[in-house]
Amino acid sequence: MSPELSDDAGRPRVVVIGGGFGGIAAALRARAKGYAVTLIDRCPRLGGRAQVFEKDGFRHDAGPTVLTAPFLFEELFALFGRNIADYVKIVPLKLWYRFRFDDGDHFDYGGGIEDTLAEIARIHPPDVEGYRRLLEHSQRIYDRGFTELSDRPFHRFWFMLKQVPHLLRLRADRSVWQMVSKYIQHDKIRQAFSIQPLLVGGNPFDTTSIYGLIHFLERAHGVHFAMGGTGALVAAFEKLMREQGIAIHLDTTVQAIEVEQQAVRAVRTADGRRFEAEHVISNVDPVHLYDRLLPRDTVKLSARIKARHAEQSMGLFVLFFGTERSYPEVAHHTIWMGPRYRELLNDIFHNGVLAEDFSIYLHRPTATDPSFAPAGCDSFYALVPVPNLKAGIDWSVEGPRLQQRIVDALDATILPGLKTSIRADFHMTPEQFDQRYLSPAGAGFSIAPHFHQSAWFRFHNRGEGPRNLYLVGAGSHPGAGLPGVVCSAKVVDRLLPQAAVRVRQVPARLVPA
Ligand SMILES: Cc1cc2nc3c(=O)[nH]c(=O)nc-3n(C[C@H](O)[C@H](O)[C@H](O)COP(=O)(O)OP(=O)(O)OC[C@H]3O[C@@H](n4cnc5c(N)ncnc54)[C@H](O)[C@@H]3O)c2cc1C
Repeated sequence: MSPELSDDAGRPRVVVIGGGFGGIAAALRARAKGYAVTLIDRCPRLGGRAQVFEKDGFRHDAGPTVLTAPFLFEELFALFGRNIADYVKIVPLKLWYRFRFDDGDHFDYGGGIEDTLAEIARIHPPDVEGYRRLLEHSQRIYDRGFTELSDRPFHRFWFMLKQVPHLLRLRADRSVWQMVSKYIQHDKIRQAFSIQPLLVGGNPFDTTSIYGLIHFLERAHGVHFAMGGTGALVAAFEKLMREQGIAIHLDTTVQAIEVEQQAVRAVRTADGRRFEAEHVISNVDPVHLYDRLLPRDTVKLSARIKARHAEQSMGLFVLFFGTERSYPEVAHHTIWMGPRYRELLNDIFHNGVLAEDFSIYLHRPTATDPSFAPAGCDSFYALVPVPNLKAGIDWSVEGPRLQQRIVDALDATILPGLKTSIRADFHMTPEQFDQRYLSPAGAGFSIAPHFHQSAWFRFHNRGEGPRNLYLVGAGSHPGAGLPGVVCSAKVVDRLLPQAAVRVRQVPARLVPA
């Protein structure tokens, strides 16, 4: 523990509800500000959606696997004068994603810009120049949307108004697909460069082109992997948190937040405990927070309206499996595109239909770190975007059927022999996202990144109700994905006052003469 944080007596208290990356980052920032910090989460491990599953010698990261902007993690260690490299090894990947199309063709994306340009030239030479212009456009959005605004509070309407001219200039009214299509002609390359919103829960045809900044974010900072997986990154944070004296309570569900005179006083847990606090930072889904945890009359109308009309992101079906053999020719990250793109996304986002076809994000961590599986074997997860629970799909029936279709499709294409070599398989449906993480509608990424649910329109980082309540995480500004949720804690850092430490009264007889 830093010497200056060694004594909690007299420090004002912060309780963080939820131990996702947003909650972890917020807890560390509050601690660095001098608060006594307690973090409470209902999962058995820290990390929120970044849980770790282990079965029969195969290990799986349950959630995020692609690390972009690692400097955001480094900053959190630097708050305490620590170097992240002493806690976890983060390595850059040379090949970021391999896109595999339905006709068997592929597109390798990553490395230096020359590698990407060569791949584009192989498929459609006229798009080489278009790509350069797309990247320039993405950089303009990045400079404004990420560098200048991602850690700024957006709860004041005038602040939003001031951004309008910039948003118009950047054509925030256009979708990511429209933005990409303006510069790129070939359908396969359009698909490859427009999938980024799916990484934060949005349909590329509906998501504001502001999210096109992800493209430059990847180019500027690369795509990385934590050796040992995202779970190892979470473990590194947990070590830092414990060293700094942050109290962590796992397997503990918060049931209610007590409010007195429009200020949060305490948090009550399902096992009957009560944690008093001067400030509460919520990392749970904002719809759950405002609908379930706070007394209704303490929540502002703005938040009640947002919670009632919130459009949740899509659901996720994730199949975890090992193989008795290895597939060395399969990349670390593969985007396996199905036969349909726009129509499939329509089925998922608009029609609420679980189609027969699908696209897959296939994770093979053993490509970079063999410790994920027994020797000579591979560990995989296959993630398929699906409608969320509002579609009323019976997952007890459809889950096993979808699993079989995925195995058949991979066996017939990039994982030949999978049907006989698959081991230790199990899957997660949107129902588990609802039950485990209390994610409304079983959404994979909280509320969708539409324009009308972004910036000022998203759930504010300053609570819309009790005055000492703050929000971090995917449903708050700036949004989902690890860079987004870690930045949400930077916003709260700006809002949370420096802790005023009360000096303990020393009895007069102990004061030296
Ligand atoms: C399968 C998958 C793959 C992804 N891949 C990537 C990727 O590669 N790269 C990337 O950047 N992003 C990725 N994402 C998105 C990213 O993981 C999330 O946006 C981010 O981790 C969400 O963090 P968060 O801070 O919002 O908290 P969450 O991870 O949502 O954690 C919130 C925690 O609060 C707990 N909680 C809820 N209610 C209560 C309560 N009442 N009491 C106590 N605890 C409670 C939940 O159980 C959970 O543990 C992925 C997401 C998923 C699901």
